[in-house]
Amino acid sequence: MGSLRSVRVTVDSGSCHGHQMCAIAAPEVFGSDDLGYATVLIDGDVPADLEKKVRRSEANCPERAIRIVD
Ligand code: SF4
Repeated sequence: MGSLRSVRVTVDSGSCHGHQMCAIAAPEVFGSDDLGYATVLIDGDVPADLEKKVRRSEANCPERAIRIVD
């Protein structure tokens, strides 16, 4: 049975140090700006098939800059 729960992701630009680990782990979700800081490529809810990657990126961000809003 499918879940109707939606998940959104944001990056705290004040905390991001531009390691790019998130963009390597989930290139469908995270990109980078001109200075190398992370950006979120998805507008709105994260597709269900990418949620696991996003949660892994959140857990592995050294600056705890990724936020997931359930
Ligand atoms: S891993 Fe974290 S600190 Fe590094 S670029 Fe991504 S959001 Fe920024």
